[in-house]
Amino acid sequence: MCPDNERVPPTVYPELEEENTENETKNDRLAETEDFLAADESYRSSMAEYVPRIAWPDLLAQIFIHAGWLYGLYLILTQAKLLTALWVFVTIYTSGFGITAGVHRLWSHRAYKAKWPLRLVLMFLFTITGQKDVYTWALDHRVHHKYSETDADPHNVKRGFFFAHVGWLFITPHPDVIAKRKAVDMSDLEADPIVMWQKRLFIPLFALLTIGLPVAVPCYFWSESLWISFWVNFNFRFCITLNIAFFVNSVAHMWGQRPYDKYISPVENVAVSIAALGEGWHNFHHVFPWDYKTGELGNYSYNLTTAFIDAFAYLGWAYDRKYVSSEMVRRRANRSGDGSHIWGYGDKDIPIEDLKELKLMDKKKQ
Ligand SMILES: [Zn+2]
Ligand SMILES: [Zn+2]
Repeated sequence: MCPDNERVPPTVYPELEEENTENETKNDRLAETEDFLAADESYRSSMAEYVPRIAWPDLLAQIFIHAGWLYGLYLILTQAKLLTALWVFVTIYTSGFGITAGVHRLWSHRAYKAKWPLRLVLMFLFTITGQKDVYTWALDHRVHHKYSETDADPHNVKRGFFFAHVGWLFITPHPDVIAKRKAVDMSDLEADPIVMWQKRLFIPLFALLTIGLPVAVPCYFWSESLWISFWVNFNFRFCITLNIAFFVNSVAHMWGQRPYDKYISPVENVAVSIAALGEGWHNFHHVFPWDYKTGELGNYSYNLTTAFIDAFAYLGWAYDRKYVSSEMVRRRANRSGDGSHIWGYGDKDIPIEDLKELKLMDKKKQ
């Protein structure tokens, strides 16, 4: 190497340099385009490969559960004791809090915090419902919120009512769902020993709490037959709880109002809210998923889960409850709502007949 060369500064030709930069930009763009096309190609090929298939063991399980529901109903109407039927109602609506306050608002959305005794109670109640383990449920739910109404949504409502309701549980998932399940952060749940313990022991816990306990109580306390108790207090009950949760994915994504965001499928549905302990205010919930009330209106009768969490907050077991201010709600509703949300007096969407009535009321007061 000649040392002189090192000392000589490189000759600069401005035009050439410009050309070089231009060439480099062109090359960069070309590389970017090639990358994009390659990614697009692999996406297309993954799409081409995706043929939804029936997962037969899962389908047979669903057929068994739903046929068992019919038989359970027959037994309730013909042979079961009244207390056995009432016990179904009690177990559905106590264990339901394990879904709504537990796996949904606490573990999926971190909308509030819970001390370990409450987490233990919620895990116990959730296991009675038999809806997979906390970790798996919360993972799918996080993916559902983050990639709602896309191929990556496990129960994408764009694939129809039946798919969103139950079909997704026995049809092989789209590759995007599998990819996103791996991408979602679950480190908070991995650090929760109660969640991981329940995940590890899910099968024996299912046998003990989803089948054993609800079936044993009627046999032990009011001498119901084991046969009847099994079909009624396991199968019939299990199927009802499952379908109430399914309604949130199907009905509450289809029929109702969209006061907060008219561009998304979730809706406000009172019927689902009553059945699912306050989980039918789904348009609000998808817009503000961190709100522990999952709804704007503070009426406990349509949102028993909020009452449940507030009661535990009173005891000090639940804390750090997050909710949105009415100002945030108003801003969002004005920006993207369907007009069914009224922010207050003076809103242009107040029906004219309401305004007339208000005027009359004012006159009466004077
Ligand atoms: Zn949610
Ligand atoms: Zn949803």
